[in-house]
Amino acid sequence: MKAVVFTLGCKVNEVESAAIMSALEERGIEVSDKLSPADIYILNTCAVTAEAERKSRQLISRARKFNPAASVYVCGCASEKNAAQFSLAGVKYVGGARDKEQFARHVISDIFGADCGDVTFGLPKAVRTRAFVKIEDGCDNFCSYCVIPYLRGRVTSRPIASVIDEISRISSPEVVLTGINVSAYGKGEGGLPALMRALSFTDKRIRLSSLECSAITDEFLSACARIPNFAPHFHLSLQSGSDSVLRAMNRHYTRAQYLEKCAMIYAAFPDAAITTDIIAGFCGESEVDFADSLSIIGEAGFSRVHAFAFSPREGTKAFSLPDIPPDVKKRRLHALLQAGKEAADRYLQARLGKKYPVIFEDFDGEYTSGYTPGYIRVYCKGEIKGEAQVALLDKFRDGALGSAE
Ligand code: SF4
Repeated sequence: MKAVVFTLGCKVNEVESAAIMSALEERGIEVSDKLSPADIYILNTCAVTAEAERKSRQLISRARKFNPAASVYVCGCASEKNAAQFSLAGVKYVGGARDKEQFARHVISDIFGADCGDVTFGLPKAVRTRAFVKIEDGCDNFCSYCVIPYLRGRVTSRPIASVIDEISRISSPEVVLTGINVSAYGKGEGGLPALMRALSFTDKRIRLSSLECSAITDEFLSACARIPNFAPHFHLSLQSGSDSVLRAMNRHYTRAQYLEKCAMIYAAFPDAAITTDIIAGFCGESEVDFADSLSIIGEAGFSRVHAFAFSPREGTKAFSLPDIPPDVKKRRLHALLQAGKEAADRYLQARLGKKYPVIFEDFDGEYTSGYTPGYIRVYCKGEIKGEAQVALLDKFRDGALGSAE
């Protein structure tokens, strides 16, 4: 029996899918994460944008093309938001976003035709050299454009001991701490700084997924600095460089405060890479507001910018606000992407000639590639395994050409 567990959306979905795959494998089912011929399809969906929701719906017909008689199971944010859109002929069970262990129990019991008892997610399979460890779920922020808090619910954090236990059993050299809102980890119990302090024992490269401004404190940064192999790569979510748009988004910081947080990061880690997300064309965004988003890209010294056109999500506060014309969004998005590309070029250019530890992960027959702590993809000629110090020689493909020692 073969199952496909296909995932759309964020790293948290990927971690949960990996755990579902492990639970199926433990029960003797062959699994794949690629849409391919199979007897069972488990589709872990996403609702972060209207486009993601559309793609989630499409997955059912894509799976059916491989096997019209297959059993299809759906879970994730898109089915949490609107289960009815997935309750189609042939879909055997529609779960939600919140309790994927319970969902896996339903699916496995259905496959074997008997209650399989509790399913406890064990250690997910490492994704190549990088393992993703989920440390929290949910978000309490209610940004006015975001549907996630309604789908994933309030913040719940894993105990530090459980995170440490998982990391100490992982064989991958790099671990990415992930969650829906990692910055909210462990509120009232020392928060993210306490977890980072507890990680000072590990020699693994520790990377963090997306952070909010509120996470950047002296206490947090000095706890990060005590981790011997900490990757100073901070994905610090911005969304807009305009104070009035940030207010409308219900984001609790100003442009000046954001830049102050960037300065704190650079003071603690002079070679830090700061990446971000920016939304183009949020409701009411004027040309002046947009110019503020454009200009902050250079000021913050981002190493990479993920820019998106605003897409209103039903059920959020911003859904009822007047949307701006699609051609204006498109033009602004294009300008943000261009400015982001120029910022990434500047970041890379300033690092050519320097040496960085690279953990190698992919050999394409000619070059082996891997990532620096600042997430520059580096290509070295020939097949290389493990980790090496690499001098960055020149720009190459989507990163740099390197020479390994
Ligand atoms: Fe959504 Fe804002 Fe929470 Fe991020 S911080 S998940 S954007 S509500």
